[in-house]
Amino acid sequence: MFNLETKRLKPETGLMPLPPDYHMHTPLCRHAEGEPVDYARRAVELGFTEIGFSDHSPMRRDDFDNWRMRNDQLDEYVAKVCCAQQEFPQLAIRLALEVDFLPGQEEWIRELAARHPWDYFIGSVHYVSDSWDIDNPAKLSQWKSRDPFEVWTAYFERLTLAAESGLFEIIGHADLPKKFGHRPTQNCTPLYEKFLDAAKRANCALDVNTAGLRKDCKEIYPSREMLALAFARGVPIAFGSDAHAPGEVGLNFAEAMALVRSVGYRECCRFTNRRREMIRF
Ligand SMILES: [Zn+2]
Ligand SMILES: [Zn+2]
Repeated sequence: MFNLETKRLKPETGLMPLPPDYHMHTPLCRHAEGEPVDYARRAVELGFTEIGFSDHSPMRRDDFDNWRMRNDQLDEYVAKVCCAQQEFPQLAIRLALEVDFLPGQEEWIRELAARHPWDYFIGSVHYVSDSWDIDNPAKLSQWKSRDPFEVWTAYFERLTLAAESGLFEIIGHADLPKKFGHRPTQNCTPLYEKFLDAAKRANCALDVNTAGLRKDCKEIYPSREMLALAFARGVPIAFGSDAHAPGEVGLNFAEAMALVRSVGYRECCRFTNRRREMIRF
């Protein structure tokens, strides 16, 4: 009996246990494929014990843009995640949203928070104005008429407000403006520091997001420099693949773990009912 039990508990691969993948999407956002059950199946295959769905939250106005679920689909989203939870009881599956932070939307975000028993919210800045989502490939030409440093500055000002809002457990892909490779020549360290000080004060974790490796910047979000500044301040982290297809679950996690370990991290966050616990990875 004892032997059997020991055998069962032994990790099959002999590798380090994987930290939770807390950033994954569903087809409700209109630019992802595969149902939550398919992501969960893939996660189990890879040896994950915990994941979280964090699809793009609805806006108050459904015509705001075309890359998120509609308001009337929020219940369907929750039902799909519940379905995956039932089908894979061996996997802890958290219920979350990736919420766009735009100044003035705070009340809307509180309304969303009250609608379901969420485990965490990832707060992300994609919009530097009401009309420009800087990571949208359809709006790539906008970068041509803007000075990169001006965009990065506007972005980090918003990201700092997002952290200060107290609405989020995790801040998504913190240096997103590098996605297409538009990097300022100026020193951005003060922008990072101001944001990270706010994240520390508000108890926000950073999303260590491997999707950047699949974009033009070919780099995890956030950069090693920002992660080192974050570690020095005691800002915690959570891992995310930003999977938009089941095949992307847990992608490049070995690289992400190595990167954060190289600046000193040994622990990451897990969230239940919007409460944080630290786990070693
Ligand atoms: Zn997306
Ligand atoms: Zn995002």
